[in-house]
Amino acid sequence: MEREIPSSSDMLYDLIIVGAGPAGLSASLTACYLRLKHIVLEATAAGGALMQRYPAKKVDSFLGFKGLTGKEVARRIIEHVKSEGGIIIEGEEVKEIRRDGENKIFQIVTGKNRYRTKTVLITIGIIGCPRKLCIPGEDTCECVDYCLVNPEDYRGKEVLVIGGGDSALEAAVMLDEVCKKIYIAHRKDKFRATEKNQERLEQSGVQVLWNTELKQIFGTKKIEKVCLFNNKTDKENFLEVDNVLIFCGSILNVDFLRHLGLEIEKNRLKAKDDMSTELDGLYAAGDITGRLRRIPEAIGQGHRAVYSIYKYLKKPYWA
Ligand SMILES: Cc1cc2nc3c(=O)[nH]c(=O)nc-3n(C[C@H](O)[C@H](O)[C@H](O)COP(=O)(O)OP(=O)(O)OC[C@H]3O[C@@H](n4cnc5c(N)ncnc54)[C@H](O)[C@@H]3O)c2cc1C
Repeated sequence: MEREIPSSSDMLYDLIIVGAGPAGLSASLTACYLRLKHIVLEATAAGGALMQRYPAKKVDSFLGFKGLTGKEVARRIIEHVKSEGGIIIEGEEVKEIRRDGENKIFQIVTGKNRYRTKTVLITIGIIGCPRKLCIPGEDTCECVDYCLVNPEDYRGKEVLVIGGGDSALEAAVMLDEVCKKIYIAHRKDKFRATEKNQERLEQSGVQVLWNTELKQIFGTKKIEKVCLFNNKTDKENFLEVDNVLIFCGSILNVDFLRHLGLEIEKNRLKAKDDMSTELDGLYAAGDITGRLRRIPEAIGQGHRAVYSIYKYLKKPYWA
């Protein structure tokens, strides 16, 4: 049963959760269970990295969800939260958090609304916006992507994947099953991906271009060719491909947290064991805390954070 979104701007929530990835959704489910008056504010669409970064990839190491894609897992956890009465408001990016020193109430400002709450849980993950290479042709060519939404879109094509982390390797291996030819170019001479992904890549037909940087993309509607630079030999060469997929990290906007005096270093918002931060009433969970960046960990942290929040709200009546 889905509840209606409360329209009163005077509403004072117990908790506002910022970000609807696994950590935020797990927190919402726990808040439903503990009967906390809360909402989840999500900048784009609920599901977090699973929806936005790997909707077609099969999710690993998540107990009980073998063989399901990111999108399928996200759908299930969203449905679960909604069925318990959780309210997820999509398309509302939190731009500012203020705190009234006297009554300790937080004001959350999005592009559309203002909300008041006694506590805040930050579960914004680290995906942010994809980092661009800032090379000629990258913005003008229509065949450049930063996320593999559906491998079928690339069926029969020749694709160049850029990057050396898990996202790049996973995409290359998935595309290898449907594409005519896949190259993966990495600017170093070894990958920084898990052993499992490196093994999968070795067993695939993907051609690895070591010490190779993408310098330019020619063409607008279609790619005519790309210019590659080998940083070991200092030589340039051209490659003809149909698509380029870039996985070179992301840029996270944490400016709205800095002025609260929170300690943020390298996309990590420091949280204690109970998920509280240096600011009373503000908690953090999931990838943003910089601990193990995996779904089970995010879910565990989201759950733990809400129990700590419950304790904080009920103090001194709940031990
Ligand atoms: C390509 C890839 C493959 C992966 N594969 C696996 C896997 O197979 N198994 C596994 O266990 N883990 C995997 N992971 C890691 C896993 O997805 C993350 O650990 C997990 O999603 C973290 O959850 P989270 O809720 O902390 O953050 P996220 O899932 O990143 O969700 C954060 C949410 O916050 C929103 N947000 C951000 N800023 C704001 C704002 N200002 N206002 C409102 N909302 C905001 C974002 O839009 C996003 O929806 C993978 C990650 C990637 C990138």
